[in-house]
Amino acid sequence: FNWRAEAQEMVKTQIQKRGITDTIVINILKQTPRHEFVPSDIAVHAYSDHPLPIGEGQTISQPYIVALMTELLQLEGQEKVLEVGTGSGYQAAVLAAAADRIFTIEIVKVLADRARETLDRLGYDNVVVRWGDGYQGWPSQAPFDRIIVTAAPEKIPPALVDQLKVGGRMVIPVGSFWQELKVIIKTSETEIEEKSIIPVRFVPMVYPESPLPEYNNN
Ligand code: SAH
Repeated sequence: FNWRAEAQEMVKTQIQKRGITDTIVINILKQTPRHEFVPSDIAVHAYSDHPLPIGEGQTISQPYIVALMTELLQLEGQEKVLEVGTGSGYQAAVLAAAADRIFTIEIVKVLADRARETLDRLGYDNVVVRWGDGYQGWPSQAPFDRIIVTAAPEKIPPALVDQLKVGGRMVIPVGSFWQELKVIIKTSETEIEEKSIIPVRFVPMVYPESPLPEYNNN
């Protein structure tokens, strides 16, 4: 199983073909071992053109969607980034190679623990994984230069807008069954600009009945 060849092919046929041109994003997707982030029995399908199950009813996003969302963030390397919905940790690994520091929150504890383990094992030392409710953001680490949300809320969570720097951008799917992938730019302390990119289907954002502990690791 030659994963580098698979990743190369994935980038050519799924990502560049659909219009992703950011060479940094392209190189990162070629060099990130996606098969390490999926259950070992389906590792051979890791580079296929669709989302895959990662347990607990959750999925790792399709490679093209990871590339598109990363490109839309317009990272230059110095950013502090918040990700809501760690899942497998793959998107966080991609971000880790493109930005300075990544803070990622996952509401399902076993997924948070597994992603942390995978990222540690692969040597991603600029990613902090926390088990918690990302709808509330990560107040103690705010503000962020960029925010990426990989589970869909019905409306843009106000806490996330609050925790975004002025001039910063957020990439987020918004809606219920079908969603729109949106780019939100915070133009001032009180204003945002909103662009719709494409229709998407993400798992819904979960709203916990009772608050989860805010500090439970690190
Ligand atoms: N970015 C992931 C894909 C995530 S799938 C990857 O690269 O693999 C969406 C994830 O969001 C799921 O794991 C789900 O459990 C999580 N999620 C849903 N609601 C959440 C919430 N309120 N806070 C944090 N994570 C949430």
